Amino acid sequence: MKNKDFAALWSQNLMSNYALPSITLVKGKGSIVFDADGKRYVDMLGGIATNILGHSHSAVVSAVTRQIKTLSHVSNFYSHPNAIELAQLLVRLTGDKQSRVFFAQSGAEVNEAAIKLSRKTGRTRIVAMTGSFHGRTMGSLSLTGQNSKRTSFVPLLKNVKHVPFGDVKKAKRAINSRTAMVIVEPIMGEAGVIVPPLNYLKELRQACTKNGALLVIDAVQTGIGRTGQWFGYEHSGIKPDVITVAKGLGAGLPLAAMIAVGKTSQLFEPGDHGSTFGGNPVTTAASVAAIKWIEKNKILIKCKADFRFLVSNVSAISGVSEVRGAGLLVGIALQKNISSEVAAALQAKGFLVNAANPNTIRIAPALNVSKKELNQFVKTFKEVMSDVN
Ligand SMILES: *Cc1c(COP(=O)(O)O)cnc(C)c1O
Repeated sequence: MKNKDFAALWSQNLMSNYALPSITLVKGKGSIVFDADGKRYVDMLGGIATNILGHSHSAVVSAVTRQIKTLSHVSNFYSHPNAIELAQLLVRLTGDKQSRVFFAQSGAEVNEAAIKLSRKTGRTRIVAMTGSFHGRTMGSLSLTGQNSKRTSFVPLLKNVKHVPFGDVKKAKRAINSRTAMVIVEPIMGEAGVIVPPLNYLKELRQACTKNGALLVIDAVQTGIGRTGQWFGYEHSGIKPDVITVAKGLGAGLPLAAMIAVGKTSQLFEPGDHGSTFGGNPVTTAASVAAIKWIEKNKILIKCKADFRFLVSNVSAISGVSEVRGAGLLVGIALQKNISSEVAAALQAKGFLVNAANPNTIRIAPALNVSKKELNQFVKTFKEVMSDVN
């Protein structure tokens, strides 16, 4: 079976909510993947910031294999050592012993959980940002600040006010003593790796504290080392009330967490929320193995160095206007609106990237992507830019 056979079967059997994928990926190791035609690619997108250690990493494979052979799933009537170990790790990474963790499977679900948690303050109003992405379930879609994704599905949750990302003045005007929560991405990922002004999170924190509103950091894309820190907000020095993580957390398996910090962690009571698969022994085994591997191999420091390497080498390429982001979440802004052509040309030359918006290429490779692979990417990017220009 070739790519074209799979494409035909896909359209005969799957819904048309996604654009028809041109290639079918069948195997991979590290940052290298192969399609059904046997073509090799460097995976510079990492399943959209998800495969933090690439494909079939030995630490993840052995942890998952060991666990699935031992015990598959336990319901929330029982506890499991892996869920406890991962929660312990996450609590430690927040730097606050009072933090508590709720596990689910996807980013949308943990943002839903954050909405419910914020209702326990007795307030219902929410402030979110224009252009943001928080998921596609009815609650998380109500937070998502992109009309193209929302219009077919109104009415959504009431009482969600969107203000421009990065605009402290407008945010402060919207946050008041009736605000339950403010939700923000430290760097807007889906929108095209948009970095806010330096003191933005600090000022949002102050406005939330002043009004008694929860500050929810959506670190679904920027969490678990992606930006060279465990959670994408850390550079700002703030302490959030709630952190949501997903994408990279399961190292390629479906796993998400809402981490409530400080006294916010006490808001849920038994019966308030739940998830059948939350804290599954196999997905949490993958996560524990990946986080420990990242710590042991000092990968966060490497990610910061990789960012500096990409900024200095990719910014210099003709047709590139800016390289932004942090760690290995990188937006390459182009002078012209040709990101789809550039992404297609890169794919033809064996590099998978994403055209996040008409003039931005987004890359989010595995955190352990090698210097050699990054060098090859830079070289090919340069070739592609001179071809299309
Ligand atoms: C991807 C993403 C989500 C949604 O995650 P799903 O797992 O697709 O539900 C939410 N927030 C941010 C910032 C994301 O990047």
